[in-house]
Amino acid sequence: MQRRLALGSALTGLGGLVASGCASTAAPTATAATPFALAQPSVPIAGSTEVFPVRRIYCIGRNYAAHAREMGSDPTREPPFFFQKPSDAVQFVAPGRTTDHPYPPLTKNYHYELELVAALHRGGRNVPVERALNLVYGYAVGLDMTRRDLQRGMGDQKKPWEIGKSFDRSAPIGPIHRVAQVGHFKQGAITLKVNGQVRQNADLNQMIWSVAEQIAKLSEAFELMPGDLIYSGTPENVGPVVPGDLMEGTIAGLPLLSVKVVA
Ligand code: MN
Repeated sequence: MQRRLALGSALTGLGGLVASGCASTAAPTATAATPFALAQPSVPIAGSTEVFPVRRIYCIGRNYAAHAREMGSDPTREPPFFFQKPSDAVQFVAPGRTTDHPYPPLTKNYHYELELVAALHRGGRNVPVERALNLVYGYAVGLDMTRRDLQRGMGDQKKPWEIGKSFDRSAPIGPIHRVAQVGHFKQGAITLKVNGQVRQNADLNQMIWSVAEQIAKLSEAFELMPGDLIYSGTPENVGPVVPGDLMEGTIAGLPLLSVKVVA
């Protein structure tokens, strides 16, 4: 109660400032000085000097039937589900060059999952499927990097997957391409090569839930907001990489994502 009163007088003291800005009680924290600087994670926007600020990273699990089967579940009975990575897990991968990606600690089975990423510039709750794509600002190629041994180990113990999925730089991503330039992605090849060999090769039309359906479903559980990224799931044939391996991911209509795993 005392804290609340103190905030109240601070608000009164800042009256002019607050009135000219945002009226919400969040305004004092937003404008207050901070004891250290904190970077806003972001992803460059293709053909623009602007960057896309990242709020949350949602990932959908088991969204291609063949991948659901290889993970030991039945795609006809288990609905897809969601998890999150921290927003600062994004690692930008510039087009036209190869980006080094450090092999993370604690794992002996580090897996790639190539995915289409949808970037939202509008939010909402309980968004109908037929309006869901209005929330999408653009798309990118991304990797949902996974410490598979830790993910499986925690799953076996009925503990959270966090350590297997939500670690530093676990979300490599290329530039975001605006819908105005590239349209929406409902079909098209999605292919990952490792050291020149094709490892994943599928079509976006094999998703169990489309991007629009994912947005609609997600928005039943969370209020979606501008800045949210959705990793839309990986096709079958996930597998390991080790230091020295070169991963090259493509989605038809977007530039190549080139990532080298380094020790
Ligand atoms: Mn994934």
